[in-house]
Amino acid sequence: MKSLWNDEDAKSMVDHYAKEGATSDVALRIYTSRLLGGDPSLALHGGGNTSVKTTLPDLMGDDCEVICVKGSGWDLVDIEPAGLPALRLEPLKRFIELDRLSDEDMVNAQRGQLLNSNSPNPSVETFLHAFLPAKFVDHTHSSSVLAVTDQPDGTEICVEIFGERAPVVPYVMPGFALAKLAAKTHADNPNSEGLILLKHGIFSYGADAREAYDRMISLVSIAESRIEAAHQKSFVPANLPVRVADVASVAPIIRGAIAQIVDDEEGLWRRQILEFRTSEIILAYVNGSDLARYSQVGVITPDHTIRTKNWPLIVPVSAVGDLDGFAAAARAAVTTFVDDYHAYFQRYNTTAQSKTELDPMPRVLLVPGLGLFGAGKSAKDAKIAADIAENTISVITAAEGIGRYQPAAEADMFEIEYWSLEQAKLGTGAEAPLARHVAAVTGGGSGIGAATVAAFAAQGAEVAVLDKDGDAAQLVANRIGSNALAITCDVTDRLSVDRAFAEICRTFGGLDILVSIAGAAWQGRIGEVADEALRASFELNFFAHQHVAQAATAIFRTQSTGGVLLFNASKQAVNPSPDFGPYGLPKAATMFLSRQYALDYGVEGIRSNAVNADRIRTGMLDDAFIAKRAHARGLSPKAYMREGNLLKREVNASDVANAFVNLALARKTTGAVITVDGGNIAAALR
Ligand code: ZN
Repeated sequence: MKSLWNDEDAKSMVDHYAKEGATSDVALRIYTSRLLGGDPSLALHGGGNTSVKTTLPDLMGDDCEVICVKGSGWDLVDIEPAGLPALRLEPLKRFIELDRLSDEDMVNAQRGQLLNSNSPNPSVETFLHAFLPAKFVDHTHSSSVLAVTDQPDGTEICVEIFGERAPVVPYVMPGFALAKLAAKTHADNPNSEGLILLKHGIFSYGADAREAYDRMISLVSIAESRIEAAHQKSFVPANLPVRVADVASVAPIIRGAIAQIVDDEEGLWRRQILEFRTSEIILAYVNGSDLARYSQVGVITPDHTIRTKNWPLIVPVSAVGDLDGFAAAARAAVTTFVDDYHAYFQRYNTTAQSKTELDPMPRVLLVPGLGLFGAGKSAKDAKIAADIAENTISVITAAEGIGRYQPAAEADMFEIEYWSLEQAKLGTGAEAPLARHVAAVTGGGSGIGAATVAAFAAQGAEVAVLDKDGDAAQLVANRIGSNALAITCDVTDRLSVDRAFAEICRTFGGLDILVSIAGAAWQGRIGEVADEALRASFELNFFAHQHVAQAATAIFRTQSTGGVLLFNASKQAVNPSPDFGPYGLPKAATMFLSRQYALDYGVEGIRSNAVNADRIRTGMLDDAFIAKRAHARGLSPKAYMREGNLLKREVNASDVANAFVNLALARKTTGAVITVDGGNIAAALR
């Protein structure tokens, strides 16, 4: 492992933060924290923490000796001064005289020394940083260090390779007790450069930012050399079918299997979003004949349990052509997993203050022949679980190369999983109404479609934006965030539709809501219209809706967790305008299509509803068309748009989008048509 320290970068960081009023100590603390956080083999998703002891003025202008330490909820890779809350150092150091300190007292003691009471909670490892005398202290969960410590003889290996440079601290749960033990180990070895925390990670320290950072790199390199020197044995592959089913077919089965019914009567499910990963390294691992042993002994470092649980679920291999068999086996495996999780909770929940069991569903799923899935309440959480799973695989692969992987004991992992200070990292805010849902919007690149994408994303859904114009879809997806998926899709082409829905399953694991919007207005007097025009309109305004509804329904049925179909009908379906037959006819059929789906699939919890919108400026009607129509009636375009509108309020794309959201949330409504037109009595349903 190479040091990435660069004098120029360090200096420009100091100059940059000087403008924001931060001292060079804090700026350099940020610089090396980001160097560490930028390497996933050192720190992943909030793992690791850093500190600097320095002087800052308090509100009276008096210089104050403080420790700036990483705040809870911050990531090293993009840390800012606000993520390094300052605490008065001397009062913290005095706590070393205590034999023990409860979690509540520890949090309170830390918060009590904050210079700024609005700061985030300082790291649970703050006392450890404070008790070490060095100015700069760095802590990571280095993959290579974990591979050498997570061994039955981890202590012996570490004593041998690190010697006096980094003495070993036996495993103790993070918090006050670990801080005291680490301080004592350092006091016994005052010339050390760091500490190896058995089955947890590594600390390094130094007089300046560079020394602490370079020592981290140097110590981690020792572990890397030990791994390289080991006789690398690869996993012995298990006997697998030659052809395994593809990810797009397997994902909705798994997603359905790990969804929990919360309220059967209400049709309420607790779903998860999936993130698929595969690579040569992942495949060698999941295909190993000994997978059931090395994958099930526990996480590589304790704080991963809050993201991945202590062990992943192994899903039986999925041979091509036997998806039904796979589904049955996957559901049985999930049932066993849940039973095991209940038993694990019962085994360790013996403390006086009894705890509440967390949801028992897996967060990581290993599928031999295919790869792994991360699972979570959002695409972001699923990615975090998948990142940790990939990192876990590289550590266990290295650990098995050295000897035999053996992490901290299960009881220790339970303590961390159910530690209030760890759970606090995940946050407890209420979830958005459509969190845990995947929505696909056709015609999502513009007008009503783009507004609908934004409306569903605002309610917490993961959204796939489908449009014939891939660039337009990408622009809309970019606007709602990095997890949105843009797909170029011609909804009149069945193959294109099938490809798009397979991509949705590969990306999110499945689908819960379809909003079928893509359409266009054909015109012509019905007695004179060309067959080609009428057929073209039917292709887009009827058959395309049927293509996407069929594709979505197939996924809904595979998941067995219900589903929502939403169609963009039109007032033309019930209140035809002159010369709009080619548009109104297929739209009438589409409105009927919505009801047919409601009728045929209600029994499976699949709802189907439609919106009748009218006079949407950004919808089917372009400005030139509106101007022409308005002119023919002797009206201004604005007056034309409000004509026959009882409320005299212009209808916008976002009004239609909100109607779709409301129908998605209306769990007792199916077969309905909602009108969004400001009140056009001639278009009222009868
Ligand atoms: Zn740690």
